[in-house]
Amino acid sequence: MEKTSQSTAPQAGGLRLEQALQLLAQAGREPPAGERDSAAWLQELIDALVDLSSRDALTGLANRRAFELALAREVDRVARSGEPALLLVLDIDHFKRVNDTWGHAAGDQVLKAVATALLDSVRPMDLVARVGGEEFAIILPSCATSFGETVAERVRRRIERMPVAIGPSQQIMVTLSIGGAFAPQWVRSTPALWQERADQQLYRAKVQGRNLVRLEATAVSVVSNEEKRLLFETFQFQDHE
Ligand code: GH3
Ligand code: MG
Ligand code: MG
Repeated sequence: MEKTSQSTAPQAGGLRLEQALQLLAQAGREPPAGERDSAAWLQELIDALVDLSSRDALTGLANRRAFELALAREVDRVARSGEPALLLVLDIDHFKRVNDTWGHAAGDQVLKAVATALLDSVRPMDLVARVGGEEFAIILPSCATSFGETVAERVRRRIERMPVAIGPSQQIMVTLSIGGAFAPQWVRSTPALWQERADQQLYRAKVQGRNLVRLEATAVSVVSNEEKRLLFETFQFQDHE
């Protein structure tokens, strides 16, 4: 009896493995290396599937799901560490015109080129995601509030100056609008509120003319390091009483 149940289990498992391998192949990924069905091989397969489920198929960037998870983690981290973090939301300007004028395939080329340029213009610790059709987001942990404008402008200019090849002899230029907001330090926020604040700034950038950066004014920056030090010293003093 036991033998029968043992002999059916690997078969069912084998079938699912084939489907998993097919998924990887469809995504253009290499199958796991090493001896098939070994523990290391299975682990590699699982890792590859987890990675696949968190990536956008066209650009290879983090997808919306991975972005939402990372944003929630970042809210927790900011609340614990008090280090400022910046969320940028980016939307390609008049992207519909690109599709209408040059075709959907050219539009896809633009999305891929923008994705690569975004990855290239931030630090490895920053998370770049494609969160919608022509919409991207970047989470920048440990980003000083005084540095926000500089980093967002650098991204904007990088795209503005980048010719995108859409055929053997055809190049086009695109721009994007950027909205940004810092996670409030010392005060617990929610991922949804943080996103909403960045989205409001993106809306401002769009209505004020596009190809612009708009960051929310940071009330937090008016609290100087000296004031924070005094605040903590007061707490310590009370502890000792
Ligand atoms: P705005 O400056 O106000 O953002 O204008 P827009 O034209 O960029 O905005 P809109 O939202 O009207 O158009 C977005 C377009 O993005 C429409 C849709 O066809 C296109 N799009 C969405 N996903 C993809 C995709 O994966 N590939 C291509 N080629 N186009 C896409
Ligand atoms: Mg859009
Ligand atoms: Mg757009």
